[in-house]
Amino acid sequence: MTSRGPMGNDRMGKVCVILAVLSARATAFALRLLGRRATSMPGLVALRLCPGLLGHLLRQLDAFVVVTGTNGKTTTVALLHAILDGQDQPWIFNDGGANLTQGLVSALLPYTAVSGALRHRRALLEVDEATLPGIVRLRAPTLLVVTNVLRDQLDRYGEVDHALACLRAGVRDASTTLVANADDPLCASLGLGRDLTYYFGIADAPQDGVARSEARDGAFCLQCGAELEYTRFVFAQMGDYRCPAGHFARPERHVAGSLPASDAGRLGVSERLSGSRPVDRFDLPLTVAGLYNVYNLLAAVTAARVLGYSPARIERGLGFYRAPTGRMQTVCETPRVVLSLIKNPAGATAVLRAIEADAVDKTVCFVINDADADGRDVSWLWDIDLESFVPRAKCAVWWCAGTRGPDMALRLAYAGVERSAITVVAQLDLVPGHVMHSGEPVYVLSTYTALHALSDMFAVQRGRAV
Ligand SMILES: [Zn+2]
Repeated sequence: MTSRGPMGNDRMGKVCVILAVLSARATAFALRLLGRRATSMPGLVALRLCPGLLGHLLRQLDAFVVVTGTNGKTTTVALLHAILDGQDQPWIFNDGGANLTQGLVSALLPYTAVSGALRHRRALLEVDEATLPGIVRLRAPTLLVVTNVLRDQLDRYGEVDHALACLRAGVRDASTTLVANADDPLCASLGLGRDLTYYFGIADAPQDGVARSEARDGAFCLQCGAELEYTRFVFAQMGDYRCPAGHFARPERHVAGSLPASDAGRLGVSERLSGSRPVDRFDLPLTVAGLYNVYNLLAAVTAARVLGYSPARIERGLGFYRAPTGRMQTVCETPRVVLSLIKNPAGATAVLRAIEADAVDKTVCFVINDADADGRDVSWLWDIDLESFVPRAKCAVWWCAGTRGPDMALRLAYAGVERSAITVVAQLDLVPGHVMHSGEPVYVLSTYTALHALSDMFAVQRGRAV
């Protein structure tokens, strides 16, 4: 340790760091012996022993890239990590979505010497919106990527306003470069009056049916409160918008994506990082499924371009990308089973759009839990646009499971699914056996706490099938 210790007193600080690192390592080792994931607990142990540890580690970083926002954080980090990471430039990152303080410490600890010195000086971390202000107080990010600001887990955060206030704290430091979604008015508002801001968006998405009922939180001018006028919706509140009184409009995009005409096509990118430069054009493999994931891809590409990575390097990196657990992840090939996290109406509706685009007969299964990490209040199920999805889904067999499986079954019935087509499975571990014999492809949509268990169970089923 070169400067003052994390406890203020040098010697005390050193002892506290050594104890914290050793205890956390022992915890991680024990968890692995038990076959458990070590994404949060080691950090929790370390922070108990040395509350100043995270600041001590973050301040050693040369590059500190943070990805936050309501939806798409984990996918964006996985995409960006695939692009940035290389033998010459290793990046520390938190895969698996452990994005609270203890998760960040757990991600940094494997690269921390017993002395408390970090072995790598670049980190790419997914940070929960509510955790962001505390992190920024310890160390301002060099680059902050905000994916979107959608209604999310209202019983955890209160209102969208609170999430927005947390995100504003993230860009308060003028040295932080912001990468934000131009098509999302709440997200775009973070860059108002601010230098070092780069916007991404989709230039020519298919016009979404404006008549479709969706949660469109935030579609109001933040200055005068007037409802924003849209000339185009992509999904949720994303699109081309302006305040009728002229206070606010969708900012110019520095990086704009154009969707290919066919599934096999590539994503066209037009880029103008500074006003004086001509527009650059290149295209990239579309390594993700679903329109909402195209936003995540554009967020990652914009961040990589701002960090100086060439289009060729980005393309090579995307070849290493693997979908994280439960982000439209194919958990089984035969029969084809795709697992996706759902946690709020806008995100779930976007996932349904992607499923709908797979125009074959299919099986759909919802696994809805209401533990703390899922959000206790499941009223959001009623805001998912199932009314549009059900008639287009080409699904004859519907499964519901989880602690709130019966609520989901009721919701589906109200959306027009025949009650005889819905089966509620009482036990989570019976889900894979049932759905894998119902006709492929199978789409499993799950809330957070069941996600990893389901991923593991399908892996076991897959093993049996082989
Ligand atoms: Zn206005």
